[in-house]
Amino acid sequence: MLVNKRCTYCGKQFQAHTIKTRFCSRSCNQKDYKFRAKQKRLNENIVDKTVNKIPFKDLLEISKSKVYLEIKDCALLLNVSQSTISRLINRGELIHFRIMSRVLIRQIDLEDYCKKELVKTSLKQESVKRPSNEVVSFNKDDYYYMGEIPKYYKVSSRSIERHIKSKGIEKIKIGRFNYVLKSDIKKLFGAPSKIIIND
Ligand SMILES: [Zn+2]
Repeated sequence: MLVNKRCTYCGKQFQAHTIKTRFCSRSCNQKDYKFRAKQKRLNENIVDKTVNKIPFKDLLEISKSKVYLEIKDCALLLNVSQSTISRLINRGELIHFRIMSRVLIRQIDLEDYCKKELVKTSLKQESVKRPSNEVVSFNKDDYYYMGEIPKYYKVSSRSIERHIKSKGIEKIKIGRFNYVLKSDIKKLFGAPSKIIIND
């Protein structure tokens, strides 16, 4: 006796010899078996991943300990998305190299990138701190011009220049002179040692 059936795998109608037959052919039977086995493996994998999920702080430690970072390590360390890191790489802003299809970034290159950005950002903030309209209301009494500082402090011009540069103190150029805030100099060297009457 033949039974009309629909193949569980391909959906084709066929005539089966027994009511229990589920597939139109041996091939469909095998394909279905393989498909199920694969699904099972995938499911197990998902379960495993949730069971063996590494805690965030451990992930962070692992990334920190690497000399050669992957995109996901960089993202973790900078607390940004992986696509942000990819964008930096594509723009050529973050130095990287490839081994086969793997993108790798040296730990030191990531640090260098951050340092560069830090400098850029702090320069921007510096210029924002004292906007140009404040320079318009520049009050000469609040400022020393560079050349007069050694008169008030027993420090050489060269040493002053060096200190100003290292502390990132802002100089304002007006005409031929560079001016710095008296208060900034006071912070550096304390109160002026002698008061000189202007000539
Ligand atoms: Zn079939």
